[in-house]
Amino acid sequence: MHLSRFPRLHFAHLPTPLEPMEALSRELGGPRLWIKRDDCTGLATGGNKTRKLEFLMADALEQGCDTVITQGAVQSNHARQTAAIAARLGLKCHVLLENRTGSSDPDYLGNGNVLLDRLLGASVSTRPGGADMARELDLLADQLRADGHKPYIIPGGGSNPVGALGYVNAALELLTQANAMGLRIDHVVHATGSAGTQAGLVTGLTGARSGIPVLGISVRAPREAQENAVFELARRTAEHLGIGDVIAREDVVANSDYVGEGYALPTEGMVEAIRLLARTEAILLDPVYSGKGMAGLIDLVRKGRFGKTDNVVFLHTGGSAALFGYPGIYGLSPEG
Ligand SMILES: *Cc1c(COP(=O)(O)O)cnc(C)c1O
Repeated sequence: MHLSRFPRLHFAHLPTPLEPMEALSRELGGPRLWIKRDDCTGLATGGNKTRKLEFLMADALEQGCDTVITQGAVQSNHARQTAAIAARLGLKCHVLLENRTGSSDPDYLGNGNVLLDRLLGASVSTRPGGADMARELDLLADQLRADGHKPYIIPGGGSNPVGALGYVNAALELLTQANAMGLRIDHVVHATGSAGTQAGLVTGLTGARSGIPVLGISVRAPREAQENAVFELARRTAEHLGIGDVIAREDVVANSDYVGEGYALPTEGMVEAIRLLARTEAILLDPVYSGKGMAGLIDLVRKGRFGKTDNVVFLHTGGSAALFGYPGIYGLSPEG
């Protein structure tokens, strides 16, 4: 795999740290838990979309675009990271936000990532839950073109074969770190949504013949649908990379037991995970993705899914800005 054949900008703070979570490992009684800090990629509070945007924005600049447009849920971390890099590069940015939960909470609609989108200078418009957001994005692109702009369309989550290269790169980075540290990685676990992160990781780890299994904890889709989406994108990513048919369907594993009632709807396990990580490791998760991903990891540890001496790496995909979009859900009393 030769990633430097692809256009890329360098703005993420890389490599992100790979650190042990000793207090959490003790608290749970093993396995050895590690964390890969992709919440520290450095772009206006960081997160996993920054790696994808290194490849996507290079493509946008090569095409001579002057505007970037994308879509996501109201508290989209992807929209916020896109707004941030557009600001850095002096491009216009429009984000379309879908109110998937139909919430009218002013913190959800205006604080957290939405506040940052606006602060970073993006134009923000919202659509009701259930809107066809891909179509809305195309309509916006048509309108911008009619007004004389050259828009670059980034799909939701930046999840296409170009964006997924960011996580092929993360896979290679993780292997390099593990080699340098003499660390045998037995499992990688992370939250999976629009599929680009897992597709890139699986492509990189499989393409390198690492033998490291990846488990995606779904935050929205049922297991089979999520696995199919990841597999499909991983195959297209491998094709884009020119490494052939290296990915098997069994290489893609997701678990949808921790979604709860739906995307961005709180679960008890998520709240427990957010509080536990804050209080044992001073690590800030988020309520939509990494909180549910960690809830899955904690529950699977308790159920004995991993060996006591296994090294399990949790990929922290970021999102802590969204904590402020849901201030009431953490069970914190004003005096507590
Ligand atoms: C987008 C996102 C994810 C999921 O990554 P995908 O590539 O969309 O599957 C996980 N965690 C956070 C914080 C995110 O913003």
